[in-house]
Amino acid sequence: MIGGGIGGLTLGLALRRHGLRAAIYEQAAELAEIGAAVALSANATRELERLGLGAALAAVSTEPTELIFRDGRSGARVAAHPVRDGGAYRGRFGAPYYGVHRADLQKVLSGGLAGEGLHLGHRLTGLDQRGDVMALTFANGVEIEADLVIGGDGVRSQVRRWITGGEAVRYSGTSAFRGVVPMGLLPSLPDPQAIQFWMGPDAHLLHYAIGGEADSVNFFAVVEGPETWTSERWLTGIREGEHLAGFSGWHPAVIEMIDALPQTQRWGLFVTDPLRRWHRGRAVLMGDSAHAMLPHHGQGANTTIEDAVTLAELLSGFSAASGTRDLDGMMRHYQDLRQQRTRTIQRSAWATNRLLHLADSVGAAMLAQRDARMARFPEDFSWIHAFDAQAAAREAEGDARAA
Ligand SMILES: Cc1cc2nc3c(=O)[nH]c(=O)nc-3n(C[C@H](O)[C@H](O)[C@H](O)COP(=O)(O)OP(=O)(O)OC[C@H]3O[C@@H](n4cnc5c(N)ncnc54)[C@H](O)[C@@H]3O)c2cc1C
Repeated sequence: MIGGGIGGLTLGLALRRHGLRAAIYEQAAELAEIGAAVALSANATRELERLGLGAALAAVSTEPTELIFRDGRSGARVAAHPVRDGGAYRGRFGAPYYGVHRADLQKVLSGGLAGEGLHLGHRLTGLDQRGDVMALTFANGVEIEADLVIGGDGVRSQVRRWITGGEAVRYSGTSAFRGVVPMGLLPSLPDPQAIQFWMGPDAHLLHYAIGGEADSVNFFAVVEGPETWTSERWLTGIREGEHLAGFSGWHPAVIEMIDALPQTQRWGLFVTDPLRRWHRGRAVLMGDSAHAMLPHHGQGANTTIEDAVTLAELLSGFSAASGTRDLDGMMRHYQDLRQQRTRTIQRSAWATNRLLHLADSVGAAMLAQRDARMARFPEDFSWIHAFDAQAAAREAEGDARAA
């Protein structure tokens, strides 16, 4: 397994549940937090609960009271849906919706794994197929052979480059400012315990409370542009005040949040182009390496957790003794199970970006249509949250055996 991110750690845990062991090679010398926080929906929390992490996760998470869409300038509520209130979300999807510090999620996952099979300080620099095995080379000089390589090495994946023979990552034309703000610095914020989208021309703000005490707010302020991204890195420095430029005339709660802490950087939002195939030889992709998406459905980490559970289910049914053809079949089966769903969510996240950023010039009828869409949000997107990756993999395995 290459990459000890959300996908790699979850896969390690999911395989262990089936009595299988994976070696995880992570480039970082220690597991560091990437980004501030993450929202976990039922399609992932049901799997983390099955992995025995329910209590540990609950202790460091916040359940939002409601999901609220607002006009970014007037602050008017456009649509609101209960989440924790009345047990609505759990009642509907059978598992919770959480806001969690990314560092806490990583601690819960790595705590569950207790360091088993984790090799830090190993940056993959080369891979090659030699007969039925993959030969891997790391920057620290270590060389190993593996029966199967799983590329959970993120959006700039080295394993993907080997599989596709090229680069497949693309700047989305949108960028973001983000941060975690103590609740005390947000006196103008209405409904501070809700997850809220504030919508307006060419920009939106998303935020939700995080931490076991729900005493901080994670925010993510997205703007159209810059048109091109020339830096090799995700982040570029900004001029003073640049973070506020897209939010001129917005509600005081929005300005207060974005400006609460010094902002010095802008995040470019990158996506993976749809891949024709997720595997080659004895290497296969999972998570952002296969399907990095715009974060507007908050599904990057959640679908990565689904991938991990699916792979673990399929690998548990695979017998090494039955040879290469079965391993090829397993990877094809995995791609069949995962490709269409993740592609549909990727596309839907682009469409949501357009809806969230509608200009006034589109006219009142179009804005009313947007508001109607937001009022139907839980119904329209229940297919994302209701999904049960373990059940889907088991059902497909059963069908394949029966055929
Ligand atoms: C701003 C932002 C906000 C987001 N918010 C949400 C959200 O609310 N909800 C949600 O579900 N998703 C969210 N996501 C998406 C989510 O973070 C990713 O989809 C998720 O982390 C993907 O997991 P992964 O394991 O595939 O990759 P990562 O978590 O990125 O892990 C990849 C790992 O591979 C390692 N690695 C890379 N190259 C090598 C190499 N050559 N050798 C060895 N190791 C290597 C890296 O160091 C890293 O640890 C957000 C993303 C962004 C950018």
